[in-house]
Amino acid sequence: MFIVPESAIADLITPDAAFDAVESVFAAMAAKDAYNFPVVREAIGHEDALYGFKGGFDRAGGSLGLKAGGYWPHNLEKRGLINHQSTVFLFDPDTGKVSAMVGGNLLTALRTAAASSVSIKHLARPDSAVLGMIGAGHQSVFQMQAAVKHRDFTRVIGWNYHPEMLSRLADCAAGLGLPFEAVDLSTLGRDADVIISITSSFDATLLDAHVTPGTHIACMGTDTKGKQEVDPALLARAKIFTDEVAQSTSIGEAQHAVSQGLIQPSDIAEIGAVINGTHPGRTSTEDITLFDGTGVGLQDLATAAKVVELARAAGTAIEVDF
Ligand code: NAD
Repeated sequence: MFIVPESAIADLITPDAAFDAVESVFAAMAAKDAYNFPVVREAIGHEDALYGFKGGFDRAGGSLGLKAGGYWPHNLEKRGLINHQSTVFLFDPDTGKVSAMVGGNLLTALRTAAASSVSIKHLARPDSAVLGMIGAGHQSVFQMQAAVKHRDFTRVIGWNYHPEMLSRLADCAAGLGLPFEAVDLSTLGRDADVIISITSSFDATLLDAHVTPGTHIACMGTDTKGKQEVDPALLARAKIFTDEVAQSTSIGEAQHAVSQGLIQPSDIAEIGAVINGTHPGRTSTEDITLFDGTGVGLQDLATAAKVVELARAAGTAIEVDF
């Protein structure tokens, strides 16, 4: 088997390579060539940690395996470690033998940013010029860096629940050569052509009344039952797309609109269908498109498999007889 440690990942995989891997696996999911296994997520009663597994099998790409890990809220403060910890394990689909162990922390950020940027590529208006960011945490920087590759954004506007964190967005925008302005939510909803929401909120932040026709919204923060970033009424008004419908309605942003009877699961389309050309996606400049990015195990497997390929080609994968 091959081992690629966390410390090696940054030098191996680019956001562009992560984008290609995620776009391909979303397409494979919609073509029924790949599927995710049910997610396990447990409060283990130790260190207040949430631990779980996300796995799947991509017959088209040949990836079988899982990401194991979760959230240890006291890591940073007690041990100087990041709170999210994960590792990806890949298996040979022909024999069941383990084939690779890959650090999953940076990969999680890259594959999550790749998902929202896939949605921007396929659903945002081609003339989108203003990027609106809600959230200024760890993931936000990866999100912004990936988003700007797919439209000619001329400026970034942002809002965060903790305003003292907004300098992270300003610094990131400056690094991309774009002006940044902190705005209130109604200005953000009115002026942004594309909105990325990446927060750990449990209440709707972006309201239906904030959003104007033609906007594309990538809701990326809601990945657990109870979390919520946008007004359920916004989902009733939007064309909704997701990575996986089962996750969208159970742990994604759509859980609220579905439980309130505002939408049906059948109102939600897989982004892979748009990639494959079997769903038209946006059909008007007035459509509001909303991508519910819940985060599926196949994204982790696809990016980890790419890392192993790159590490082997570079001669840096650690080979272990196992
Ligand atoms: P972080 O802890 O670094 O940042 C959290 C962000 O949420 C900050 O911007 C913070 O100000 C904001 N926030 C906190 N409480 C809020 C509230 N009550 N209302 C509005 N905003 C609030 O987290 P992160 O690593 O940037 O992750 C952000 C979210 O993305 C988390 O919910 C995480 O679970 C989720 N996530 C999703 C995926 C996916 O595939 N969809 C992948 C990774 C992370």
